Parts: sequence; structure tokens; C-alpha cells
Amino acid sequence: MVLEVVAVPAFTDNYIWLVRDEDSGETAVVDPGDAAPALAEAERRGWAITQVWNTHWHPDHTGGNLAIKAATGAAVSGPAAETIAGRDVALSEGSELRIGAHIGRVIEIPGHTLGHVALVFGDDRIAFVGDTLFAMGCGRLFEGTAEQMYRSLQRIAALDPDTALYCGHEYTLANGLFAVTADPDNEAIRQRLDEVRKLRDAGQITLPTSVAAERETNPFVRATDWQKLAQLRDAKDRFRS
Ligand SMILES: [Zn+2]
Repeated sequence: MVLEVVAVPAFTDNYIWLVRDEDSGETAVVDPGDAAPALAEAERRGWAITQVWNTHWHPDHTGGNLAIKAATGAAVSGPAAETIAGRDVALSEGSELRIGAHIGRVIEIPGHTLGHVALVFGDDRIAFVGDTLFAMGCGRLFEGTAEQMYRSLQRIAALDPDTALYCGHEYTLANGLFAVTADPDNEAIRQRLDEVRKLRDAGQITLPTSVAAERETNPFVRATDWQKLAQLRDAKDRFRS
């Protein structure tokens, strides 16, 4: 059976993801910055959380770890290279995650933070990418370099085009407004921005995105070298729509 992925909005623009495997009855929660909304949504659905998975250490992704662990006994998996509250399993390049019969593979994608990981369920065409790739954008370079971010985005872009990408924030509209200025001749970006405006006007989520969509509309993924990415990142940091 397929994995079911459900968005739980948290704080201003974060998404916590619940991952459900019906066959085994397991539920994982990805990047629970806040325990309360994740526990409430799982309870509403009658799902018992059995695992916590973190992509990076930032408090808006890990702040709920200890409370969820205390409430459910869930095991916490997070990047080996970072300090992760309540971590039981340290993840690094090539580590495996399992939920029921589904197997995820860990790839290291530094840039936003130095130990940031992505969780890639290849057979399921699902990847959790935290704050490294956003729809039509990328994370800020808080710890890593533009060269690291360039390589990390290229690794994500090399996944199967059908892969659904689950990011940590609802930043798509702001990213799209920058993307049209960065790549004004790209018709696919214009079309996507129109669709995103409609979704946001209706109060709807714009995620997940896909590898194929990002290859077409994400200026940071389309950057031809890390120097170009560095220019784009600098321009985005100063951009006001
Ligand atoms: Zn972050």
C-alpha cells in the first residue's frame, strides 16, 4: 500500500508532516516543531505516532520532539552531525529508515544547516527535504556555503522526476514572486505563480511540489553553477516584493 502523507500547519508557515503506513499501523511525524498540533491531528485520525524524523536541528523542526516522545514513546531519528533533542537514531549518508515495509534512504544535503538530511522513499516517490529546497526557492545559508547548497539541490533534482517533495514551509508565493524577476522569460514560472496565487487566495496548501516542477520553475535548481546560485541567494535575501 502507498504511504499517506498529511500536512499539519504549525506556527506561521511551517508544515509538520504525518506519514501513515496503513498495513503496519505505524505513523511517523516529520519535523515536529510543535507537539500539540501533531498529536491532535494524529489523535483525530486515530493514528498512533511511532517515530519522529528530523531533517535538521532548528527549533521550529524539533521543538516538539521531547513532548511527542513522552506522550507516545516514539523513537526519534535525526542527523548525526547535529544536536537533536531526544535523538535515539543518528542518521547519516546511506542510513535507512523503515515504516512498515517502506524503506527510506538518507542523503546529506548541507547548506541551510551543516548536518541537514533529506529522507528519500524511492519506491514511494516521496522525499522530505526540510528547509533545503522550497517550491521555487531554497533555504537560507545559515551554516553552509553556496557551493554546498548548489550540490545539495542538484542531488534532489537528480531524484526521479515523479518524486513528491515535502518541504518545511509554505514559502511558495514569496518564492514565485522572486522567481519571475530572476527568470522573466520562463513561462512555466509565470503559469505556476498564477496557480499558486489562486491556491493561497483560497487558503490552500501549495505542497508537495515535485522534482519535475522544480527542474522547470526553481531558479536555484536551474542555476548552472554555485556562483550563480550565490548571486541568486544574495538577491533573494534582499528582495522585497
Ligand atoms: Zn531551518
